[in-house]
Amino acid sequence: MIDDALKMVQAKINKAMQLANREDRDATLVAVSKNHGREKAEEALKAGHRVFGENRVQEAAQKWPDLKKQYEGVELHLIGSLQTNKAKDAVALFDVIETIDRPKLARNLAKEMQAQDKNPKLFIQVNTGEEEQKAGVLPSALADLLFLCTDELGLKIEGLMCIPPVDEVSALHFSLLAKLAKKHGLSKLSMGMSRDFEAAIKLGANYVRVGTAIFGDRPPFKG
Ligand SMILES: *Cc1c(COP(=O)(O)O)cnc(C)c1O
Repeated sequence: MIDDALKMVQAKINKAMQLANREDRDATLVAVSKNHGREKAEEALKAGHRVFGENRVQEAAQKWPDLKKQYEGVELHLIGSLQTNKAKDAVALFDVIETIDRPKLARNLAKEMQAQDKNPKLFIQVNTGEEEQKAGVLPSALADLLFLCTDELGLKIEGLMCIPPVDEVSALHFSLLAKLAKKHGLSKLSMGMSRDFEAAIKLGANYVRVGTAIFGDRPPFKG
């Protein structure tokens, strides 16, 4: 079943890429396995999928180290907000960290990357809807955070990530994110989830993060 769902989502991605006439041909499906047990992730691995997203460091630390040993070529993305004191574990486990959103976190990640001699790919999360409860740097503070990351800390930032407000048209937020990335010379965009990944691809997404459309409804998180 997960096999079929993966194929279906991938087919929709391919179709959206074709319709968008994008020349970069660069849109990767990040299968979001958060809240699902290890066996679901393993089903997707057995189907040949290798790129996954998790939103909690602790949950991922229980699920993924063994799977990473067992299946070659896994690329694990951290897509949930990261507490500063978990930077160490995050650097140890994740290949891509998509949620840098504040100076202190950037500093801790830089320190841990050096200490562990690891280089996860890094994204800055932007709070495009300027929602109070949501993680992500405000669009107006992006330039400063980016400067800190690149010029002061020597971090390479691949691109930007966003989660649009649930009650707004996602496309507006995707265009804003694309505009911000272009303005700052960043090439990669992580945007789009089950309900709007096709719209995201139309607007230039390089990573779409899809959970429900692949794994079905999520069981509630058990901490
Ligand atoms: C859960 C989650 C997703 C996947 O959401 P679906 O609607 O299940 O596809 C994508 N991105 C982030 C940041 C998430 O937390």
